[in-house]
Amino acid sequence: MKLLCDSMLGKLAVYLRTLGIDTEYSDSRYFDLKTDRVRGEERIFLTRDTRVLKMKNVPPYFFVKSNYPDMQLPEVLEGLKIELQEFRPFSRCLRCNCELRIIEKEDIRDKVPDYVYKTQKSFSFCERCNSVYWQGTHYERIRRWVDTVRQIMSR
Ligand SMILES: [Zn+2]
Repeated sequence: MKLLCDSMLGKLAVYLRTLGIDTEYSDSRYFDLKTDRVRGEERIFLTRDTRVLKMKNVPPYFFVKSNYPDMQLPEVLEGLKIELQEFRPFSRCLRCNCELRIIEKEDIRDKVPDYVYKTQKSFSFCERCNSVYWQGTHYERIRRWVDTVRQIMSR
C-alpha cells in the first residue's frame, strides 16, 4: 500500500516509514489536485484537512480523525486494513521514504563518525538523501516500539 501524508501528519509519516510502509509526505496542507504524482502512483492521501471532505472527484483519501500521532497510527492501520505482514521495519529512510539498501562498511567510511565506524558492523544507505543507518542506540527502542504496534494490531 502506498500512502501520502499531508503537512499536518509529519509524525505519522515517520511512524509509517518506521514500519516500512511506503509513505510520502507533502508539505502542503491542502491537497493539490493537479499533483498527478499521486494519481499516477495510486497513493492514498492521508489528511486532517476537513475541506477535502467537501470536494468532489478527489483521489482516494483517508480522513484521519485523531489529533495525536500515537492514536493516528492505529486509526490508519485499522482503517486501511494494513496487515502485520506488510510491516518491513528498518527498510525505509525515515527522512525521505526511499527504500534503503545494505551498503558495504568500507563504502561509508567518510559518511559516519569514527566511533560508529569502529563499533558497528552493518549499515544501510539511502540513495536519495544520502542518510546512513546503523543499529545504534535508537535501534532497540524502535524495535520494541514496532513489537508494541504489532501486539496492539493483533488483538
Ligand atoms: Zn533518504
